[in-house]
Amino acid sequence: MSLKINNETHANKVYNFLKKKKKPLSAYEILKELASEGISAPTTIYRALNKLVSNGLIHKIESLNAWTVCCGNHDNKVPIFEICKSCGNVTEHLDINIANSLKSLSEKTGFLADNPIFEIHGQCNNCI
Ligand SMILES: [Zn+2]
Ligand SMILES: [Zn+2]
Repeated sequence: MSLKINNETHANKVYNFLKKKKKPLSAYEILKELASEGISAPTTIYRALNKLVSNGLIHKIESLNAWTVCCGNHDNKVPIFEICKSCGNVTEHLDINIANSLKSLSEKTGFLADNPIFEIHGQCNNCI
């Protein structure tokens, strides 16, 4: 996937790094590892992360304050993250039923949800 954004190289480096790691990383962890590649300011990291989030390439895992690569194409589906407390692995599921349920819930109260977050903590298949 190509990025048509300014600061392309920084965002690309952060994206490729996250992709390689295959698990959520904090901004500090990313910064620490990418310092050798010329990304040394926290603001640079946050700017790159924000761009990647708004491009739909990565997600922020709010409960971990960490970022992870998106698993694929969402369309109108809502992502649900399973977070293993033992190994730290995160699995992303995309579910249209939950998206529809949320929509009808919100319609009852006229609430406009812009960023529904589902993060489930537990243990993955490998760690049980
Ligand atoms: Zn995703
Ligand atoms: Zn696990």
